[in-house]
Amino acid sequence: MGAREGKAVERLSRRVDGGERTLRSSIACEGIGIHSGRKAHLTLGPAPAGHGFVFRRLDVAGDTGVVPARWDMVSDTTLCTVISNRDGIGIHTPEHILAALSGAGIDNATIEVDAPELPIMDGSADDFTFLIGCVGVRPQPSRPRRRIEVLKPVQVQEGESWARLLPSDSFKVSCTIDYDHPHVGVQRFDFDSARQTFSEAVGRARTFGFLDELEWLRAQGYARGASLDNAVAISPNGVMNDGGLRYPEEMVRHKVLDVIGDLALAGAPILGAFQGYRSGHRLNNMVLRALFADESAWRWEGAGTEAQRVVA
Ligand SMILES: [Zn+2]
Repeated sequence: MGAREGKAVERLSRRVDGGERTLRSSIACEGIGIHSGRKAHLTLGPAPAGHGFVFRRLDVAGDTGVVPARWDMVSDTTLCTVISNRDGIGIHTPEHILAALSGAGIDNATIEVDAPELPIMDGSADDFTFLIGCVGVRPQPSRPRRRIEVLKPVQVQEGESWARLLPSDSFKVSCTIDYDHPHVGVQRFDFDSARQTFSEAVGRARTFGFLDELEWLRAQGYARGASLDNAVAISPNGVMNDGGLRYPEEMVRHKVLDVIGDLALAGAPILGAFQGYRSGHRLNNMVLRALFADESAWRWEGAGTEAQRVVA
């Protein structure tokens, strides 16, 4: 489910050159948060040109529930990304829906939810891709689509882990994971938006976890909604899910999915290549912060430094 609709959306997106894009109408789903275990209703809907991706917490009164999806609003990156507004109202685990929106070539959307954590659905971006395919994409030719062009390499590092952004003629994400586990080990996946579609290459890759860490995670308040319905579970004997994996290297493809979602917090599509080694949500955000901290590292595609300064 989802991949075919997603591919159709992506084909449409490529035809509609020039302007920004939003959804044609609203559509809803419900599910539980993978960490909180709490039920959440989500409505995905159109937004005006220039609006970006904006979350709204319906369980919080008035404008205090508005949480823009921006890199400088990231408040926590332990196991999932958390964005919070000035009132401390947060959105937990926004990365999968942002990946689906970004992967479908959407620039502007409103995401309403009645709980702090978004529903995990099946652990991938597939259900969100399906919803986007159901309502379709609407061009917004009044506002030209501007990408953030990476001009020089920017790298961040923590221990052996690192992430970098490099100049590139298309948006690319390359991840390598290295787990000391016989059923995961070293995996690498390279995604190139010029050659592959998000929905087919990475959109169906599920989040994953190790059985021997589950008890500890739950004691820390995480993974309380996790199950074989929404995550790949890996025991010492291998993958526990009926039906096995969706891709041979599903885990690293999910890492690529997470990167695409976390980079959607840049506020516009990135024209550049991300490379990560054992990276996660924290490094994904750190590399965006490093990019925007250096005025010489990026520019608005086709724009001069004046426009850049206004946003930076
Ligand atoms: Zn994820």
